[in-house]
Amino acid sequence: MAHPSTVGITVIGGGIVGLATARALVRSGIEGVRVVEKEAAVAQHQSTHNSGVLHAGLQYRPGSAKARLAREGIRRMTEFCQENRITHEICGKLVVATDASELGRLDDMLERGRANGLEGLRRLSPGEVREIEPHVDCRAAIRVPEEGIVDFGAVCRALERENERAGVEIVRGAEVRALPREGREWRVVTTAGELTSRVIVNCAGLFADRVAELAGSPPKARIVPFRGEYRRLRPESEHLVRHLVYPLPEPGFPFLGVHFTRRIGGGVDAGPSAVLAFAREGYDRSTVNLLDLIQAGTFVGLWRFTGRHHRMVARELAQSFDRRRFVRALRRLVPEIRAEDLHPGSSGVRAQAVLPSGDFVHDFLWVDDSAAVHVVNAPSPAATASLAIGEEIARRAMRQLA
Ligand SMILES: Cc1cc2nc3c(=O)[nH]c(=O)nc-3n(C[C@H](O)[C@H](O)[C@H](O)COP(=O)(O)OP(=O)(O)OC[C@H]3O[C@@H](n4cnc5c(N)ncnc54)[C@H](O)[C@@H]3O)c2cc1C
Repeated sequence: MAHPSTVGITVIGGGIVGLATARALVRSGIEGVRVVEKEAAVAQHQSTHNSGVLHAGLQYRPGSAKARLAREGIRRMTEFCQENRITHEICGKLVVATDASELGRLDDMLERGRANGLEGLRRLSPGEVREIEPHVDCRAAIRVPEEGIVDFGAVCRALERENERAGVEIVRGAEVRALPREGREWRVVTTAGELTSRVIVNCAGLFADRVAELAGSPPKARIVPFRGEYRRLRPESEHLVRHLVYPLPEPGFPFLGVHFTRRIGGGVDAGPSAVLAFAREGYDRSTVNLLDLIQAGTFVGLWRFTGRHHRMVARELAQSFDRRRFVRALRRLVPEIRAEDLHPGSSGVRAQAVLPSGDFVHDFLWVDDSAAVHVVNAPSPAATASLAIGEEIARRAMRQLA
């Protein structure tokens, strides 16, 4: 590889978070920024296998990093899209309570949203909901006017272009395999050769815990992959959903429950589910990775999690195999939906950090170490919030450089 020189900061992982971090570094005047990506092109995993929704921070705990950075992030992302002429649409979202037992949680969510500073939130009656989404049946709903849809792939391509114009070196096809320290420098050993760097920033997404381990800082929390499977409404059934329709999230889970998402490029998706995956990059049921499986199987946190939430784990698995079960979950939102309205869609795998106790890490999590910053947990809404996250991580990395 023709990149032997030492740079100031090496970002490991060219997903939306790594690209946004590199951008924030060069915009702060840092020279010598490099992004090392294992795939032949950037953003081949979570950043382009998601729902494409711009989240405004409705349901996150007030004061959490997710709440703060989603607020700031959606504003930044919308501006970035406008500046770069990236198609996006602030179409608004409905979160619906489908039976009376959910009304209390709906009101709590409304309060949370207001505490997080969301603007224009409204509680709607079933009649008001029908004016916006004529096929949705519910007891009440919250309308979130600030949220919308975007093509995060186009955002990543724009970030990649901007970074390269600003002098960021992007090394593709280089998987980081070892990170020994030599004096005050890191030797970044990749499948395409070796580099040296003063500071490393780990933005490796589904492999963030492994990269942290390579750097001698194994995190307490491990990444557990949850596959999200989508089904797509057939064109003749698309009229059943106009915008974004979400159920109330299940208490204790970071995933939002199957919902309807209109895509910026056209079409309406239902999903994603949250099935425990047998491979960190297992985009279908048949993909199994032995190392991933062994690591997951020997992680006590996963056993504790599945023991505690076996119903949810079994339900998601059953929905993956049985289309009718998946449709039943969707019918709670749109009773007219039938299995024939859907055909198989795409999928994505979420990197979710789980603690040895079996608890999810709900908030974003980054760990500062000597000459290193590790982004250990950056699940949804990290794509929306990526520009704000990138600034936060860049500040931390610059402190390590000083
Ligand atoms: C199904 C699904 C739906 C989602 N929906 C939304 C949504 O609607 N809105 C939203 O805001 N967020 C959403 N998210 C979350 C969002 O996509 C992620 O939070 C975000 O993309 C994380 O970006 P990242 O850069 O951390 O990870 P990634 O995009 O996974 O990037 C990590 C990169 O690191 C590289 N890498 C890994 N290991 C190495 C190594 N050893 N050496 C070199 N490179 C390495 C990988 O190849 C990859 O390119 C969703 C996620 C999923 C999976």
